[in-house]
Order: sequence, then structure tokens, then C-alpha cells
Amino acid sequence: MGKYLKPTVVINEDLSEGVYAASGSSSDCWTINVVSAQDWNGSDHVFEVRCSHKAGSDNSHSASAITVTISFNNTLTAASSETGNCKYSGNTLTSVRSGHANAIDSVTFKVFVRANDEATTKGLAVTGCTITCTES
Ligand SMILES: [Zn+2]
Repeated sequence: MGKYLKPTVVINEDLSEGVYAASGSSSDCWTINVVSAQDWNGSDHVFEVRCSHKAGSDNSHSASAITVTISFNNTLTAASSETGNCKYSGNTLTSVRSGHANAIDSVTFKVFVRANDEATTKGLAVTGCTITCTES
């Protein structure tokens, strides 16, 4: 049975990433992928936000900021971000990352989210995400 289990896990991960990528593109120049980095750090579930900038076919602009919105499968009771700019409401976190990004660039940062109790926090999963570009 183990032989069947392993491919199933891989397929699920691929599907998840595809879903995130598909739902995560609200601007045509950034793509976003959010993955669980650590399900419990003592208080929070840690997610890594991976953003990639590719500013169109002519690479005509750089970015001065990005705004990331991530939806989870449960209500958040606390949230923070390495970017220092984070707010949350219900099951949705919004984090602004201020800083220069070149026309072709990558930005990665972590967000920390908490739900009602430890089990629910560990079970938090991303249900959707969007990213918008502030062009500089
Ligand atoms: Zn852009």
C-alpha cells in the first residue's frame, strides 16, 4: 500500500501548488506560491510566501511594493509577517512588503498565523492567495 501512498502525496502537492498559482495571480507581473514551512513553532503556523516578478514581455517596470492577500481554511486569531506590515480579518491575512524589486526578481518572506487552538493552528491551510504590484 505504501507504493500507492507516496505517489498520491506527490500528486496532491502538485495540485495544491497549481491551485495556488492559478488563484494567486491578480496581476500579470507577479506570481505567488504559499507553502507551509512549519505547522507549529510553539504558537503559530509558519507559511513561506514565495513571490516572483516578471514584469511583462518588455520587463518595463520595477516594483516598490507588493500586497499579498492569503485566505485560510479557518478563522485566524492572530497573524504577523516578516514584512512588518500585516493585518487580518476572519480567515484572511493581508501583508504589504515595501521594498524595491527589479523587473525580474524574487521575494520570499514568512507569515505567522494562529487559530483558536493548537490543533486548529496546525491544520491551517491556504485556500487562495492574490498579489498586486505597486510599480515604481
Ligand atoms: Zn510588477
